[in-house]
Amino acid sequence: MKKRRWAAAITEIFLLVTLTVGCRKADAGVRREGIALDTVVSVTLYDTADTALLDECFALIQQWETQLSCHADGDIGRLNAAKGAALTVAPETAQLLSEALSYSRLTDGAFDVTLEPVTRLWDFKKENAVPPAQDAVKAALAKTGAARLHVEGTTVRLLDPAAGVDLGGIAKGYIADRLADYLRKQGVGSALLDLGGNIYALGSRNGGDFRIGIRDPRDENSLVAVVTGQDCSVVTSGSYERGFTYQGCRYHHILDPATGYPAQTDLLSVTVVSPRSVDGDALATACFVLGKERGLSLIASLPETEALFVTKDGSLAATEGLRYTLP
Ligand code: AMP
Ligand code: MG
Repeated sequence: MKKRRWAAAITEIFLLVTLTVGCRKADAGVRREGIALDTVVSVTLYDTADTALLDECFALIQQWETQLSCHADGDIGRLNAAKGAALTVAPETAQLLSEALSYSRLTDGAFDVTLEPVTRLWDFKKENAVPPAQDAVKAALAKTGAARLHVEGTTVRLLDPAAGVDLGGIAKGYIADRLADYLRKQGVGSALLDLGGNIYALGSRNGGDFRIGIRDPRDENSLVAVVTGQDCSVVTSGSYERGFTYQGCRYHHILDPATGYPAQTDLLSVTVVSPRSVDGDALATACFVLGKERGLSLIASLPETEALFVTKDGSLAATEGLRYTLP
């Protein structure tokens, strides 16, 4: 529900932009919204009214979701059920797993796709959810770590029968990139993909920048900033997105791989702007775990990558090259 309102806030700002700068030429675009990837997804094409492209986009999202979900009958579901046996997966899956492992190394394990034994214990969607028992978290944590996932060519293997992979922190970015590639190949030059917080702005908007509103983590109806750019991904990870309160304590869905519990951080959200959404997705999750100082220096060390941090004390911290305005 929250995601829906947030999507509405983003839509609103696009409408605003259309009204203010879109007067020269009426849009010939089409837009579709649907539920996928466990969230609200929307695809807006600005320079074509071809609804068959929208059909194909949603079919592709579903196909890639099955391939990558730990609950489905695709590559990752099969890997998690293989009890340590080696498996042949699609080259794209193997490539994504390799990239995910690189992000584990780059972030000192703050980003960890092998957290599945732990993430399995947490249910952030259930009404009246409760945190798992400490012993269970400790035992599950012992089955995690990048060293337990082996990728060679298209052969992948979990080096412990109880280990598992959860691509929830990177899959939406990966899918956004593939969708953008598909649309480009179909000749689309202006589109906006919103995969529940993973935004990809394809091409330009009315010949200029897209304007992407960044939600205020404390108020779903307000924005903290508006990021501007073209052909870029804008991904936000925040503790407000998914979680529950138990005995007065808030438990959110971004876990610290060092503890197996929600990351205790000075942040409310991190937004990463980068050419590729797969990078932005992994980095936003990792930076949330790392906290503001370590996150800022990690982003500053990466080319063509910028970020905006919203801290618990309500302040904003942006990297030097971030292009944004205040609302
Ligand atoms: P995101 O919303 O992109 O920040 O990703 C959060 C999702 O990624 C969670 O719902 C989990 O499925 C998974 N996840 C949680 N913590 C981590 C972590 N530290 N590293 C990698 N994936 C994580
Ligand atoms: Mg992420």
